[in-house]
Amino acid sequence: MDKRDYYEVLGVARGASEDEIKKAFRKLAMKYHPDKNPDDKEAEAKFKEINEAYEVLSDTEKRNLYDQFGHAGVNQNSGGYGGAGGFGDFGGFEDILNEMFGGGFGGFRSSGRRSGPAKGADLRVDLTLTFVEAAFGVEKKIEFYRTEDCHTCGGTGAEEGSKVNTCSQCGGSGEVKYAQRSLFGETISVRPCQACGGTGKTIEKPCHTCKGKGKVKKKRTIDIKIPAGVSTGNQMTLRDEGDLGSKGGPRGDVYVVLKVLGHEIFKRDGNDIFCDIEISYAQAVLGDEVIVPTLDGKVSYKIPEGTPSGKTFRLKGKGVPVLNGYGRGDQYVRVIVKIPTKLSEKQKEALKAYSEAMGEKVGAEKPDQSKGEKKFFEKVKDAFNN
Ligand SMILES: [Zn+2]
Ligand SMILES: [Zn+2]
Repeated sequence: MDKRDYYEVLGVARGASEDEIKKAFRKLAMKYHPDKNPDDKEAEAKFKEINEAYEVLSDTEKRNLYDQFGHAGVNQNSGGYGGAGGFGDFGGFEDILNEMFGGGFGGFRSSGRRSGPAKGADLRVDLTLTFVEAAFGVEKKIEFYRTEDCHTCGGTGAEEGSKVNTCSQCGGSGEVKYAQRSLFGETISVRPCQACGGTGKTIEKPCHTCKGKGKVKKKRTIDIKIPAGVSTGNQMTLRDEGDLGSKGGPRGDVYVVLKVLGHEIFKRDGNDIFCDIEISYAQAVLGDEVIVPTLDGKVSYKIPEGTPSGKTFRLKGKGVPVLNGYGRGDQYVRVIVKIPTKLSEKQKEALKAYSEAMGEKVGAEKPDQSKGEKKFFEKVKDAFNN
């Protein structure tokens, strides 16, 4: 089944503010909440869809990705939001439900959700592309370090034969409760226990490899496919490729942030590219077939007779492919008439002969420049005096 547009799902405009999105979500979530619609498969599917849309649009980073890449930008490497995790995994979305339903709404929150699995950290990988790679897409290998279970202790953090005790600070829950003031009055919140780092356990003798953390940083290499038409600042999300979650929670995501290098011939603006070519005066006057560089190689282009310097021609469809879309931008070629600086005597003679034929007097006798200038300045003076 095709995914519906997230903005459409929440019934908001593309430019909707955070507040508008939040309001729209609340309204719909109230309406389709499973506890209000028992055994209603359609409502459940709707609720899931609303949740998914909200999770993306309420997160600035995810929303940007979605705006740029569509569903592909936020769902890569996974079956989509709420896929594997189902109703158990709501991420930041739980806060709003907590506000709405007071945290005790039906069986919706699995008991002990707070001390349950937590998603791992998101990671950022910067990737530099050449102009051409960005234009046409490319396959790249990216490398980064992420946490893995320690292979020595298997993730327990304890040295072999060492005892693991229940944390005395939190009694093994891994978290401590504290009161917090919010718009909705005082609420009791929890934070991870600092004594045990949220694990609920203390270790007699920490593992020598991971120093008791149970996790180690390990290099990860992934092949990724960059689509055609990307530009600097574009991001790609690799779902579930980040740091290990805690207590069996999902991995964080990896954000690949793209940077595109310049090109010695072309400049790019959106999907259009620009370049200059030099032609001679004779070519400009008489017209000529010239060779123009394009992203697809050299093409020949007919410059018409009497082309002035600075004139720009458009090569339709020779620009950069549209990201996640169809078609390509255009290429704009600006013609620059080159003035030669070193001419042979023979060339100069020919040019003088041309000049004469045009009725000019270049180099034949000195034009009276002082007179000409005077005339000009007199005109200026006159203009001011009037
Ligand atoms: Zn270890
Ligand atoms: Zn503890």
